[in-house]
Amino acid sequence: ENLLEVRNLVVNVEDKEILHNINLDIKPGETHVLMGPNGAGKSTLGYALMGNPKYTVKGGSINFAGEDITKLAVDKRAKAGLFLSFQNPLEVPGISLSSFLKTALEQQRGVRIKAWDFRKELRQAMALLQMDSKYAERDLNTGFSGGEKKKAEILQLLMLNPKLAILDETDSGLDVDAVKIVSQGIKTFQEHRQGALLIITHNTKILDALHVDHTHILAQGQIIKNAGPELVDEVSKNGFEKFLQNKE
Ligand code: ADP
Ligand code: MG
Ligand code: MG
Repeated sequence: ENLLEVRNLVVNVEDKEILHNINLDIKPGETHVLMGPNGAGKSTLGYALMGNPKYTVKGGSINFAGEDITKLAVDKRAKAGLFLSFQNPLEVPGISLSSFLKTALEQQRGVRIKAWDFRKELRQAMALLQMDSKYAERDLNTGFSGGEKKKAEILQLLMLNPKLAILDETDSGLDVDAVKIVSQGIKTFQEHRQGALLIITHNTKILDALHVDHTHILAQGQIIKNAGPELVDEVSKNGFEKFLQNKE
């Protein structure tokens, strides 16, 4: 039984066809890695799956958790358990991380959450990430470092607890320590939340400590290769060239 079923998906951006006939199946709890050269359409796929209105579905369908979501609005997809990394700017003046997370959670669930219940959930997630609870009371605008922002984002991931999290180059531009934080955080999500993941990356370092089930290469708007976890090492050693020449 698939959690996500993408069938012959065609996506346009501003009248230009960017994605051509994409097929992708993700089962509950699986971790998939999507790789590919710059401009291949990886982010476009992420936005289209999440329902960003700039990305027009011209053909095909997206099924998620047993429902056709091809035409659903972003907020309905979020409620259904889909998550795209960190579109929310994590710098909001005068708001603490804790109240930001509470609002995000209430938006996702569509209900008010009692302060007491929220505290409990927050404490539990912070403990899993070995984060100091004082951290949640910090102002989102008072200069979180790169690594701290990533921690906050991973905390958001654990709190929202999606059925499928799409992480679009959440590791780009990070130093070694921050990559470790992200990687450990994703691992915690895998182990304690059992949600599925679609990790879009070309930094395979982030995958070293993670369990991977399936890999895909996207090039020029098409998935040109589907494989197992071994493809991660192959790409990090030899790059994409070989796959671009002999498309399957
Ligand atoms: P990737 O994430 O693999 O680097 P993108 O999905 O960002 O690739 O881009 C794929 C193609 O779509 C590129 O040619 C890019 O210029 C184009 N594109 C993506 N988003 C937009 C947009 N909002 N407006 C115009 N062109 C876009
Ligand atoms: Mg599979
Ligand atoms: Mg991108």
